[in-house]
Amino acid sequence: MFREAIEKMAAYKPGEQPRPGERLIKLNTNENPYPPSPRVRRAVVRVASDSLRLYPAPRADDFLESASKLYGIRKDMILAGNGSDELLAMIFRATLGPDDTVAYPVPTYSLYDTLASIQEARVLRFPVESDFSIPLDQLAKARAKLTIICNPNSPSGILTQTARLAKLARELHDRLLVIDEAYVDFASDNAIRLLRRFPNVVILRTLSKSFSLAGMRLGLCFARPVIIEELMKVKDSYNLSRIALAAGAEALNDEAWMRRNVERVKKTRDASIARLRKMGFEVPASSANFVLARIVGRDLEPLARAIRKSGILVRYFPTPSLRDAIRISIGTPAEMNALFKAIAANFSMLNLNGVGDSRKRR
Ligand code: PMP
Repeated sequence: MFREAIEKMAAYKPGEQPRPGERLIKLNTNENPYPPSPRVRRAVVRVASDSLRLYPAPRADDFLESASKLYGIRKDMILAGNGSDELLAMIFRATLGPDDTVAYPVPTYSLYDTLASIQEARVLRFPVESDFSIPLDQLAKARAKLTIICNPNSPSGILTQTARLAKLARELHDRLLVIDEAYVDFASDNAIRLLRRFPNVVILRTLSKSFSLAGMRLGLCFARPVIIEELMKVKDSYNLSRIALAAGAEALNDEAWMRRNVERVKKTRDASIARLRKMGFEVPASSANFVLARIVGRDLEPLARAIRKSGILVRYFPTPSLRDAIRISIGTPAEMNALFKAIAANFSMLNLNGVGDSRKRR
């Protein structure tokens, strides 16, 4: 009944979401532990009582207006999506057919694999270096029809310098380079200035992380108008609800609220990295709102399970290169303390030979 490619492919596996009423500390899907701006709530209430009878704006006008002001980008260079996941799907749909090539470093956001399978595209995967840096030269040489860099990358949190992305954009001048900046508000730089210099650069943002709106499903795509126009052809007419559009506009209008929460998360992140390293984990320097904690060569699935039993969700990826790691989203300081307690308790239970007790090792 289905296309062969669909029957053969595996579905994307999202991180566990608690069942209604289940009380868990959620450190597995990189949500923001702090609430969105109070302006969002007021906008949602206003729209819910006023205008749900009518279809929403197909081009997301007010939301784009707010984005245009905040980022200093013309409206005809912006496209709004139902989460940046929808924008990624539009990009894959609009650019890749059977046997077209898409290139990205691995490990990275695994939805790229799913979207490539749907399109029956050929994937060129370039393993990251041992320090998680991205093999940009290889990506440039591959000259795929579509190249994607998640920056900062997931699950490492490692940031690639914008100057290095500029070099890649120049080398791929006639091919699209998508820079997925889902986590960039937690980093020290971003690639928006490349839009002016390189006609092949596409930048993706989401309101799910820094703006605390994962439940609202809002993403933004920045690119030259000719690219936006092509992507519009594969967009659902009314891809964002009136409620989401109003919420998104108000969230972007309150940048100060987002910045305050980002600073809190960054402070907790940096303290968490230090704490995990002291416990014996290897942790790359993260520029995102999550950290990757590894014990090289040890399968950490039992640890993830044990932490789950203490009521805390972290992300474990059952792939060869990530089995020895767990990815931990940064929560509130209290949530992180609960996690460290659970890890410490289970370290001894798992008999990890002194790892986890820094006093013993000194
Ligand atoms: N890109 C990356 C790298 C992500 O980790 C995520 C979140 N899982 C997304 C895009 C999608 O975010 P959203 O659809 O919530 O905007």
